[in-house]
Amino acid sequence: MAVTRFAPSPTGYLHIGGARTALFDLLWARKTGGRFILRIEDTDQSRNSLTAAKQVMDDLKWLGIQWDEGPEIEGPAGPYYQSQRLDIYNRYIEQLLNAGKAYYCFDTTDKLNQMRKKAAENKQNFVYPRPVKLPDSADVEKAKAQDKDVMVRFCMPDEEVVVNDEVRGQVKFNGRDISDFIILKSDGFPTYHFACVIDDELMGITHVVRGQEHLMNTPGHIAMQKALGFKTPVYAHMSITVSEGGGKMSKRDRAKVLKNAIKKTEGLDKEKLASIGGISTTQLDGFLTGDSTPDNPAVDAMAEFLNVELPEVNIVDFFKSGYLPQALVNFIALLGYSAPGDKEILTLQELIDTFDPSRFNKTNSLFDRKKLLAFNTEHMKMLGEEELLSRYKDFLEVVKSPAAGADDALLKRVIKASQGARTLADIDHKSRFLFIETGKIEYNKKDVEKVLLKNSAEGLAMLAELKEQLLKLPALNEETIEKMLRGLAEQKQVGLGKVAQPLRVAICGTTVSLPIFESIDMLGLEETVKRIDNTLNKFGWNLL
Ligand code: GLU
Repeated sequence: MAVTRFAPSPTGYLHIGGARTALFDLLWARKTGGRFILRIEDTDQSRNSLTAAKQVMDDLKWLGIQWDEGPEIEGPAGPYYQSQRLDIYNRYIEQLLNAGKAYYCFDTTDKLNQMRKKAAENKQNFVYPRPVKLPDSADVEKAKAQDKDVMVRFCMPDEEVVVNDEVRGQVKFNGRDISDFIILKSDGFPTYHFACVIDDELMGITHVVRGQEHLMNTPGHIAMQKALGFKTPVYAHMSITVSEGGGKMSKRDRAKVLKNAIKKTEGLDKEKLASIGGISTTQLDGFLTGDSTPDNPAVDAMAEFLNVELPEVNIVDFFKSGYLPQALVNFIALLGYSAPGDKEILTLQELIDTFDPSRFNKTNSLFDRKKLLAFNTEHMKMLGEEELLSRYKDFLEVVKSPAAGADDALLKRVIKASQGARTLADIDHKSRFLFIETGKIEYNKKDVEKVLLKNSAEGLAMLAELKEQLLKLPALNEETIEKMLRGLAEQKQVGLGKVAQPLRVAICGTTVSLPIFESIDMLGLEETVKRIDNTLNKFGWNLL
């Protein structure tokens, strides 16, 4: 029975890598009838925010990765915010200090930097020099009186530490190469390393899944577990996921794309852009010269303003791009893991039922966006009508589509007519014409030229004729429209496209839309005629 935990440091949105870790925590716990705990690691006072913790929880819920115990679901192992557990950590700090397994230190950042520099100059790995005589309480009082920072370091034992990793097998470390690391900071908060080890023990965690970047931390964690008489959980350090460009999938990828776009924008109003992003012009300059990266919301707002599409890296980005949580869960489950039988399209339940920890892969996995799109297309087909509608409505809300708030029956028709759509955004794009006013239709220049104006405006002539025929129809429905369009094509001895495309451009502004018969039926006679008139006027039919 596995008791797992997902332990995000709430510094921003839930990243795709974090979501993968949380998913495997869930799979392991569910498969073995265990428990999955959510713990918020908010011990870095300068970087954490409550809103970020809430956002992470919303993202997990959206993905369907529901924890059994944690914030909002209190249980015996709480509190689940580390910032509320300081007295617990202090007790164990005392225990280590009393046993001579930890010691106080008072170094300034400058001094530490100097020591690091010196080690680098001598081409040596920096290892903190443990004092021969460990400071006692009198030394602490003295340091405090001199206004010095007081911290506590763990005595890393000089011995081999073996990490038995479920993914990488046995990995050996030499304790001698690892510095006595800080476990209590000068602000009275424990470091991640210390709080994590204490909580894993007290919360009864049996299995720790986390990204490979934490493997270097694990020998220190195991040494602390030994020093405190704790059990060592099973570790699984999951392989790294690289983006198609080669680098790690990071929020910097998004900022980089935005930066290039800003640099390319002609006649940029810097003040306006900065104010849209909620940052100062100095901060914007700092961003452009590479000194700093603004927060996620600032990057998003500026990108939206400049109409720049950014690569998705956070769960919320995928939501806004119209992906289904089911598809994302399926996709991230196959990053660094392969399902039995090499089956690819799987539901969460199937992932749970077939979960096998011997199937983790060591090698880096590629974040293949084409594959994700293919997965999404499949999951769109698999989802029931009601669930798809409810997902679609959530999506419309979040992207502030003009279709948000539309009638359920109409949205259901739109979804049905969009069969084969790859994302919810595809459905929205192809059907927006139904939800905007006639005067607001944006005409695609190329389509207008090709479909309406070419060959002495033959498309406009067709439209004028179509309007007459439409008005003569006894009743407007898909069948009568189809019959009329096909009849007209036959009469003119042309393909159906020659008749249908001008109509499409008139009602949508482009040639990409839902099937034409249904489109007209959904739009209704009055609005269709209005749009035909509008198009004829706009492109000068009456003047020809
Ligand atoms: N708070 C750490 C992080 O977000 C957790 C790492 C771990 O799972 O131990 O990276």
